[in-house]
Amino acid sequence: SRDSSRSGVSRRVSKSGTTGKSGIGTTASSSTKKGKLSSTKANLESGGAEEEKGKKGLYEGPDMDLVAMLERDVLDNAPGVRWDDVAGLSEAKRLLKEAVVLPIWIPEYFQGIRRPCKGVLMFGPPGTGKTLLAKAVATECGTTFFNVSSATLASKWRGESERMVRCLFDLARAYAPSTIFIDEIDSLCNARGASGEHESSRRVKSELLVQIDGVNNSSTGEDGQKKLVMVLAATNFPWDIDEALRRRLEKRIYIPLPDLNSRKELIKINLRTVEVAPNLDFDDVARRTEGYSGDDLTNVCRDASFNGMRRKIAGKTREEIKNMAMEEIVNDPVAMCDFEAALAKVQKSVSPADIEQHEKWFAEFGSA
Ligand code: ADP
Repeated sequence: SRDSSRSGVSRRVSKSGTTGKSGIGTTASSSTKKGKLSSTKANLESGGAEEEKGKKGLYEGPDMDLVAMLERDVLDNAPGVRWDDVAGLSEAKRLLKEAVVLPIWIPEYFQGIRRPCKGVLMFGPPGTGKTLLAKAVATECGTTFFNVSSATLASKWRGESERMVRCLFDLARAYAPSTIFIDEIDSLCNARGASGEHESSRRVKSELLVQIDGVNNSSTGEDGQKKLVMVLAATNFPWDIDEALRRRLEKRIYIPLPDLNSRKELIKINLRTVEVAPNLDFDDVARRTEGYSGDDLTNVCRDASFNGMRRKIAGKTREEIKNMAMEEIVNDPVAMCDFEAALAKVQKSVSPADIEQHEKWFAEFGSA
């Protein structure tokens, strides 16, 4: 049985939105297929060393290797991204708040016809902030964040991916409320390559469908409160997602390239930590970067912000550079000429044809 109320897993975890403060004690329940995820209530009540001791006995059995790997590579306790760190995308933020954040804040409202959607898909060109938004969701609603790349799932754990998917959802229930972010979800659907791969990727996908279907059926914590697990997925190739998976990802949010205002905001966010010269015209840079993705713009800003140092160290020997005072290197605010140089070097990475394809898919399958 996969009934999560069978075996209690009690954990004290640091929740993403609250890191920096002390970890919040949470109680959640889960079980692995073999019912081996088990712990005593004492683990919950004890902290510190006791917890460490408890940790060792928490997950036993054949899935230990996967649990350890997931906790190490996939569990991100402190994504630390806030809504304000994400430039623009106000419509996407609004949709995410309604589809994911509110159900976690007030789960008792989201019942019956108002049940939360099973999964949310963010699609759009690469480097537009999909991962950033998923992290912001996790931070803003204080959920545990599981950040999974489907490509890793499919390749690194070939043959075991199916077990991995099951284990991931078990773990997410144990840490609930949780957000599972599955990046590049299209790569789970793409049955390219040899027939053996085809078969295994088919099995991974059906396991994922089963897991998404059952995701919030019985996740009630020991205090009787519903503990949600929200599934967020992202893709740059939404048209590669087959119908069965698309139906589960009920909300499909388009994450477009940044518009003029968002580009200006993005440049300001990127330059938050450096000194800026008075002649730097944010509007002008924003106007000249039409078609740049957020990631492209970040690259422009990064390159521009290095330019002062390039000027300072030009013609100097290794010893001279090492002996320079930091104030001397930093003392050259990022100016318009630095952006001129960076813009000449960093090109946009998304083609108009790609955008057209996304817009077409949005018109057919997207959520407004
Ligand atoms: P995606 O998941 O859509 O491929 P990411 O969220 O990983 O893109 O964004 C890559 C990088 O680009 C981010 O780390 C950030 O520096 C920058 N970036 C992209 N979009 C935004 C945005 N809307 N606001 C702020 N930074 C952004």
